[in-house]
Amino acid sequence: MAGEHLVPHGPALAARPEPAKKKESDMAVTTAPISLEQETNPWEAQAARFDLAAKTLNLDAGIWKVLRYPQREIIVHIPVSMDDGSIEVFTGYRVQHSTARGPGKGGIRYAPEVSLDEVRALASWMTWKCAVVNIPFGGAKGGVICDPRHLSQGELERITRRYTASLIEFIGPEKDVPAPDMNTNEQTMAWIMDTYSMHMGQTITSVVTGKPVNIGGSRGRREATGRGVSVVTDQALKHLNMSPESTTVIVQGFGNVGSHSANLLWEKGYKIIGVGEYDGALYNANGIDISELMEHKARTGAIHGFAGADAFDKDELLTAKCDVLIPAATENVITSLNAERLQCRILVEGANGPTTMVADGILAEKNIFVVPDILANAGGVTTSYFEWVQDRMGYFWTETEVNQRLERIMVDSFNDVVQYAVNHNVDNRIAAYMLAIDRVAYTTKQRGIYA
Ligand code: GLU
Repeated sequence: MAGEHLVPHGPALAARPEPAKKKESDMAVTTAPISLEQETNPWEAQAARFDLAAKTLNLDAGIWKVLRYPQREIIVHIPVSMDDGSIEVFTGYRVQHSTARGPGKGGIRYAPEVSLDEVRALASWMTWKCAVVNIPFGGAKGGVICDPRHLSQGELERITRRYTASLIEFIGPEKDVPAPDMNTNEQTMAWIMDTYSMHMGQTITSVVTGKPVNIGGSRGRREATGRGVSVVTDQALKHLNMSPESTTVIVQGFGNVGSHSANLLWEKGYKIIGVGEYDGALYNANGIDISELMEHKARTGAIHGFAGADAFDKDELLTAKCDVLIPAATENVITSLNAERLQCRILVEGANGPTTMVADGILAEKNIFVVPDILANAGGVTTSYFEWVQDRMGYFWTETEVNQRLERIMVDSFNDVVQYAVNHNVDNRIAAYMLAIDRVAYTTKQRGIYA
């Protein structure tokens, strides 16, 4: 049937049977046709990879059930006074997928299209991400449905503080530690830290990471996700016997992750030939000067109008010819609709969930080397871990120390995943999931089921 694809996927969360009635056979990975809507549902995308990895691991059926679903899902409807005197009510989520290996950890995003399914998927991805790089955190994620482009700083601050207050009993340095994500930043984290501290009666910096450096933030945190992306890209090149000077790169997204990924790769001698954002793209076959582009964006608020490159069709950017493609924006940009036309040799997933499961199969047939999201973009949460550690010690590292520690973890994790893939004859994504699920399952079993 047109638009339908055969992929393994498990039961949808909404259709979750009562755990007690669930038979072992229900946990099997089923092969069923899915629509484009299902293909691009982030929760389904996460669960399908989880099921495949769990099956390949021969995971115990009980642990499979425990790890497949989030531990806790919180929905809040928060009233906020707007600048014009009216009252608006915003919906926010915080999903804690697992706290088996440590406190929940993960960002908070502000966007009009945030949904519970998306936050669930992102929370699960955080669990696997923290386990892939072996840091002592579980996984969580938050989101508020709002459009930051149409909100003043004052409105954003009041949304953030009220959202934090609504979650006050569920977050904390040993419970769940938020961080920035799409459309949230150091200022947002400062407000969360301050609100939490006001409720607790003392300053507690380690309740969030990604804070400004002067109030407990870590040096290097701002660039950390991009730095991690650049480190794993180097490793992928090494693995395939390629060199930076003769490698062309296209980066989709020029926010925190995309801009720092592009800049660090550009500094290492890679040729960044294309950069795209939601409202336009740039192309220059001779390479784009990324530091100038960053200045241009800081000055004008957008990438278009930049003199050092030509305007390009943003929808054609992902399928343009390059050696390394880095989607660094949002979910579901590589799907059954365009995967066949990709022309890169290496795909490094700076974003969370940029590739659908149907696209995975197409990329494998095309022999594209994939550095999956839960490995490729783990540099951010790894440096968040360093921030949490430094806050709790009250002793702060130099930027060089932070970056060296980050690099070591990223290189080791890359090698672990690639070796795991070879040993178990699976692709890099399923290898990363298997490695992560195995670690979380081990801890879950060791802790036992509390009754
Ligand atoms: N939002 C980032 C991510 O998706 C960072 C999370 C964190 O530092 O806790 O990985």
